[in-house]
Amino acid sequence: MSVRVRFAPSPTGYIHLGNVRTALFNYLFAKNQNGQFILRVEDTDLERSKPEYRQALIEDLAWIGIRWDEGPETGGAYGPYLQSQRLATYEQYVRKLLAEGTAYYCYVTEEETEEAKRIARLEKRPPRFDNRGRHFTPQEIEARKARGIKPTVRFKVEQPQVVLKDLVRGEVHFNLDDMVGDFVIVRADGSPTFHLAVCIDDGLMKITHVIRGEDHLSNTPKHILLLRAMGFDPPQYGHLALIHGPGGEPLSKRLGDVSVREFRRKGYLPQGLANYIALLGWSPGENREILTWQELQALFSLERVNKSPSIYDPHKLDWLNGEHLRRLSAEEFSQKAFAYLKMAGALEGKDETLILKVLPVFHDNIERFEQLPEKLNFLSEDFGYENKAWLESPEGREVCEAALQVLPSLTGEGESLYENFVNALKPKVKAKGKNLFMPIRMALTGREHGPEMKRLFPVLGLVRAKVRFEKAHKA
Ligand code: GLU
Repeated sequence: MSVRVRFAPSPTGYIHLGNVRTALFNYLFAKNQNGQFILRVEDTDLERSKPEYRQALIEDLAWIGIRWDEGPETGGAYGPYLQSQRLATYEQYVRKLLAEGTAYYCYVTEEETEEAKRIARLEKRPPRFDNRGRHFTPQEIEARKARGIKPTVRFKVEQPQVVLKDLVRGEVHFNLDDMVGDFVIVRADGSPTFHLAVCIDDGLMKITHVIRGEDHLSNTPKHILLLRAMGFDPPQYGHLALIHGPGGEPLSKRLGDVSVREFRRKGYLPQGLANYIALLGWSPGENREILTWQELQALFSLERVNKSPSIYDPHKLDWLNGEHLRRLSAEEFSQKAFAYLKMAGALEGKDETLILKVLPVFHDNIERFEQLPEKLNFLSEDFGYENKAWLESPEGREVCEAALQVLPSLTGEGESLYENFVNALKPKVKAKGKNLFMPIRMALTGREHGPEMKRLFPVLGLVRAKVRFEKAHKA
């Protein structure tokens, strides 16, 4: 039987580290097994689901490089892939469950359920539903109907002991009597719950493996019972441990925005981000960390997925992304960097030709594209000096004066242009080493640190260099 997995996001916000990791593990597992990866959008929560989030998640997944075999716009043999278009199918199954007596209309109100849970908590019992609605007499039901109470549909939990052979966590035992009791599958407003929709869809879409976050672990016994009651073989499950922040705390708002959108905005490469995310809970062994998409697909296995939480470390992400940047050809680097600058609106009013020429010089100097605009500030003539002292000292002034003398007659190309410049300066000035190179760097870029001058100098060219040394001399 060929592997079929799905990523089933709810379009209620931008996808973030946690859910894109789930998507990625499903995708890599499918590719590794020559299986199918399905995108299913769980948009039954009509109040919170938004079409713009659906669009955004499709864009973000595509950006990072995840491709689905079946999905909302792609189509496929088991569609539709938007849950909001599958309501009639859910109703059919509910009718069947009601007819068979495995589900029942429950006239207990939400307030009563909450109150029962509250009392259970006070009495230190598990806050589970006490199934009282199962035992209402026809008269009680009529009286409640007369009060305008709309029923929910609950699934009867008759075999509360469930054993799950989790692909990540091993064997897990559940006793649903301690946890939930009969659970709601259709809300009082007639809408299906997540549990109902997810089981029907996993069943009908012939999903073989459900890989999802550990936050769903307590739902899984319900899903196994519900799937069996509807005549489906439950898929295999693998629950991924949570992702924590650098201090071991749960990923939270305090860490800033960890949406894929935000990582795009910060200028990470899709393959750098995907590589980093793959390592959040999985490793190929042998201390291998820098991996291409092809390697990720070839090496991924659920056996090597870790049971314990993983730590999100932005510094490691930066490092890994930098490694991926270094692996691009100079041309690819410049092209992607330029596209990023354009997207970020950082090219407005700028000399694009000059930027294109200077970009390769920064290939080894950044870890993500967001660092570029600030580093490129020196390209506009009104840049300021980070440390004027290098220009104001007598030695610095001498360097500027000498530079202005030698520039007009300078010849050479590429890196040798800079060598010729320095060689021409040396006999004219007292400064040596740092005292020579810092005034040059300060005059030409306004910074103490930056890419190699021998690469930058020919890109700036002699005309700009002259203007800059004149300005520096007056500083
Ligand atoms: N819509 C659910 C979520 O976003 C999917 C859960 C599942 O994978 O079954 O958490």
